[in-house]
Amino acid sequence: MRSPQNDDVIPVILGTELPWRQGATVGLAVQDQWDSQVTVPISVAEDGTSRMAAPLPAPVMVNGELAAHADLEWQVDVHWQPGHTVRRRGLDSRELFADQPPLMLTWARSSRYGVTYGSRRYDLVRGGARPENALARVALRHLSLAAWVRAKAAEHDLSALPSEAGRRASLLASMLGGRRRYIDLFGGPLLPALRAMLATSAKTKEAYPNGDGVSLSSTEGVLTFAGIYARVADMKLADVRELADAALRAGVLRRGMVLRCAACEQKQFQTVEKLSQRWSCVRCNALNDLDRHAWKLPADEPTWYYDLHPVGRHMLSEHGEVPALLSAYLRKQRKGQRGMFDDLEEVAILRGNQPQVEVDLVAYTDDVLTVAECKTPGELTGKKGRQEVLKKCRAAAWLRADRLLFATTAEEWTQATRVMVENAVASFSEWGPLGSPQVEFVARLGRADTET
Ligand SMILES: [Zn+2]
Repeated sequence: MRSPQNDDVIPVILGTELPWRQGATVGLAVQDQWDSQVTVPISVAEDGTSRMAAPLPAPVMVNGELAAHADLEWQVDVHWQPGHTVRRRGLDSRELFADQPPLMLTWARSSRYGVTYGSRRYDLVRGGARPENALARVALRHLSLAAWVRAKAAEHDLSALPSEAGRRASLLASMLGGRRRYIDLFGGPLLPALRAMLATSAKTKEAYPNGDGVSLSSTEGVLTFAGIYARVADMKLADVRELADAALRAGVLRRGMVLRCAACEQKQFQTVEKLSQRWSCVRCNALNDLDRHAWKLPADEPTWYYDLHPVGRHMLSEHGEVPALLSAYLRKQRKGQRGMFDDLEEVAILRGNQPQVEVDLVAYTDDVLTVAECKTPGELTGKKGRQEVLKKCRAAAWLRADRLLFATTAEEWTQATRVMVENAVASFSEWGPLGSPQVEFVARLGRADTET
C-alpha cells in the first residue's frame, strides 16, 4: 500500500499477524463524549492494585436526541493513567469492581484500553426514578499483575501464590527497593561475582586460586573488592564500586573481615557492624581481640571482604538468578519501544492445597502475556520432560498466554528438545478457540550473545 502523501511504503499487518491473539471487535463512539476526563480518589494496595475510593459519575448522555431514548443502553470505556494492567482475556466481571458487591449494579469487562462497563443499572431501580438514577455509578479497580494472575487462577478454582523461591526474590527486591533493582543486581553485571561467593571448595586455594577470596565452607565464600571487580566484564572500577555500594546500603552485600576465634578456632565472617577492638565469636561467644592472630595475613592490616546475604545465597544456590536474567533480557529486548513492561516471578498455582504447577516468570508487555520456564536443556527430555511441558501448557491456558517461552543459560537448545516441546504443545487439548500460544526458545541467557 502507498500513502497519498509520499511514496513510503506503509506496512500492512493482517489480523492474524498481530502480536495479541484476541478476536476482533467493532465499536461505535458517541462523538460528544469521546474524551471526558474525571478525577477520582484512589487507594493503592501493597501489591500495586489501585481501587477507586468513590464511584464514577453517572454516564449521562449529553446528546439530546440520544438521551430521548429511555431504553437506550451504551458502554462506557474507562482508561486508567498509567495503564499497567493486563487487558482483555475474559477476566471475570466481579474482579473489576473496587468492592465486589453481592448484587452487581452492572457488568464490566477488561477491554482493549482499560475497562468497559454497561451504562444501565441491573439491580432494583424504582419506577419514576430520574433517568440519571437508572444509570450505573461504578467504582472500579485496576489490578496489578500479581492480582490479575490471582484473579485469573480463581476463575479455574485455583489459587496463585509466590512459591518459596518467589518469596525469597520478593524479600531481596524489598531490601533493594523494588523489583527493578533486584533484576539489575541479580540479572546484571555483578552476577558473576555474586555467583563466585558460592564457593566450589572448602579449601581457599582451590576455590580462589588468585587469592581474592576466602572459603568459609564448601559452599560459602567471600570476596575482596578486587575479587568482585575481576569477575565483572567491561566496566570501569568506579562503576563497579557504585553497584557494590548500592547493594551494601541495601544490606544484600555486607562488608566485613574473615577472622579466627582464638578459643574454638572457628573461621568466620564478622560484619563491619559487629567489629570493634574486642569482637565475639559467632560459635562460642568468646571475646577476641582484633589483632593479627585473628586475621593472620597480611602482616600489616586486615583485608575487607564482601559477603552475600544468606537469602541471596539460597536464591543463587537454587538458580533463582535465571528468571532474573530472563527478565533483564526481555526488558532489554523492548528498549526504545513505548508502553509498559511488568513481570512476576516464581508463581505457584494450587488447587486447594495441591500444587499444580510452578511458573518461573509471567511477563506482560505491549499486550503480550508470556509464560516462561527456565531450564537446563537436560531437564526437558523424555517422558518427564514432556509432562513438565504439559504442566506449563496448562498454566499458559489458564492465564490465556500469547507466548510460551523456554529459556536457558546453556549454549543451546537441542533439536530433539525443541521438537519434543513443540509436539507437546501441539498435542495439548485445552487451548482456547485462538489455539496454542507461540513457542519460543532463548539460549545463552546472561551473555552478550543471548540467542532467541
Ligand atoms: Zn569461638
